[in-house]
Amino acid sequence: MRSKQRRNKVRTHDRCKEMQANIEAFAENSLGREETALFISHVSGCPDCRDELQTYYIVKYGLTDAPLPEDADEYEVKYLKDYNFHRMVEHVLVKRANELETDAFETKVSYLVYLVGLFVCLLTFFAMLVFEYV
Ligand SMILES: [Zn+2]
Repeated sequence: MRSKQRRNKVRTHDRCKEMQANIEAFAENSLGREETALFISHVSGCPDCRDELQTYYIVKYGLTDAPLPEDADEYEVKYLKDYNFHRMVEHVLVKRANELETDAFETKVSYLVYLVGLFVCLLTFFAMLVFEYV
């Protein structure tokens, strides 16, 4: 039991290290879809990693004049002005999660459009066959 607990703890810690190595890429929105989803789900439930992410924002944007990432919206600008990095991190996590959902929806829609196109092509093909042999 003890060794199992210990092993879980080590595994959790490894996961945190992995996530914390991705903080910069996440903040710059350069992680892949799957990594972003994993990052959001981990950081949302892990106070340690959330703290690290917040620290990253404070060090990068709070303590310097570095401009916010290109995709920053008016909320991020406001939270930076208010020096409210807790809200900033919360906002960015929700924003990225919404972007992932929108992407997934757009992928489904384009797949559907592709299928409809394919169906129309097949229909045309069969119609041509039928009319040729009537
Ligand atoms: Zn963590």
